[in-house]
Amino acid sequence: MTSIVQTVSCLDGYDPDALRVDKAIEAIRACLTPVSEKETVPVRQALGRVLAQDIVPDIDVPAHDNSAMDGYAVRFSDLSGKETILEEIGTALAGKPLRAKVGAGQCARVMTGAVMPRGTDTVVIQEMVKREGKRVLVPPGQKKGQNVRYAGEDLKIGVPVLQPGRLLRPAEIGLIASLGIGEVAVKRRLRVAFFATGDELASIGSKLKEGEIYDSNRYTLHGMLERLGVEMVDLGVVRDDPGALEAALQKASRCDAIITTGGVSVGEADFIKQLMAKLGEVLFWKIAMRPGRPMAFGRIGAAYLFGLPGNPVAVMVTFYQFVRDALLHLSGRTDDYEIPLLKAISSQPLRKVPGRTEYQRGILYREGGEWKVRATGQQGSGVLRSMSEANCFIVLEHARGGVAAGEPVAVQLMEGLA
Ligand code: AMP
Ligand code: MG
Repeated sequence: MTSIVQTVSCLDGYDPDALRVDKAIEAIRACLTPVSEKETVPVRQALGRVLAQDIVPDIDVPAHDNSAMDGYAVRFSDLSGKETILEEIGTALAGKPLRAKVGAGQCARVMTGAVMPRGTDTVVIQEMVKREGKRVLVPPGQKKGQNVRYAGEDLKIGVPVLQPGRLLRPAEIGLIASLGIGEVAVKRRLRVAFFATGDELASIGSKLKEGEIYDSNRYTLHGMLERLGVEMVDLGVVRDDPGALEAALQKASRCDAIITTGGVSVGEADFIKQLMAKLGEVLFWKIAMRPGRPMAFGRIGAAYLFGLPGNPVAVMVTFYQFVRDALLHLSGRTDDYEIPLLKAISSQPLRKVPGRTEYQRGILYREGGEWKVRATGQQGSGVLRSMSEANCFIVLEHARGGVAAGEPVAVQLMEGLA
């Protein structure tokens, strides 16, 4: 196992006391080794999992040329520049092919999905033809091969269609099923332990004593982790006490990742620093961002450690900007899961100083055909309501200064942020 300190200190521009967001992401990435163990699950249960095998079709999908519409299968060479009269010799339904061959001057009634009757190459939709008993009158202007779905048009024998590392969404589940595959190999789920630290934290169910607050971080963390589809180990609230913390970290170190909140800010960090240094290899960073400046990253036992700040908004911002990416990478994803940055017009001035990346909580809305964004009220990192009111982050880049009303800014949508 390569040392985290060694890996990180080799990176260009690595400065633990003023670490740029992009550098922190790069530093974390450089240290991660994704899970490699696999398990086989029935295809339905693979939803939300990460594929661990190649999917290579051993059949064509569709398996036969078939009709894309309800109508008449004809031989294109029979049609002329004027109306053509053909004799209908039978019907082909989806799942019920026509046995007879369609000869010159003949046609067959076909329904959507029916195998193209032998001899035919073109489908004329039923609304276009006139019928007189068994006589079918086809108007001119048809195109050869129209309304036919060809064998292998969707998936072709031997041509790989999904690679390991793909997230399996409903579309992929259906696609695998369309190949008649009932079980797939997926990467094993990540196990993530988490706990909140702080002597001021009360748990739901107990009455608040003076100076106490209810622990909310474990609840937002639980929600964010659940959406990521990881297995969770909730270790509860841990007092600011070396013995209790050590016990919690030891227990958590058997997982793939540990997420803690609180205790990494200046003043608190010292005893935690010593403890973490004793148990593993942990770096304490001051990140050039707001909110979320203090953060610890390292490894304890088999687990990567993400020591997030205590402030509720900072927990969510650091989770979405660093932990989410790390956990998706660790879970073996190789597809593109970066959160897109979209552009919107700021409807108000925004205060910002150069030298840090800010994640203000915003409300994206449409006005006069244009997407605009405004900040939620108070932006304090303890104001969780600002997250609840927001539907996006307004991402103000490192070098950027204040924003004037009417200037474009980058936003990240919160919906879909799994
Ligand atoms: P700390 O990083 O431990 O200094 O905490 C910073 C701030 O976040 C303090 O005001 C804490 O009371 C608050 N805080 C820490 N942990 C939690 C938690 N689990 N739930 C809600 N607020 C918290
Ligand atoms: Mg604390």
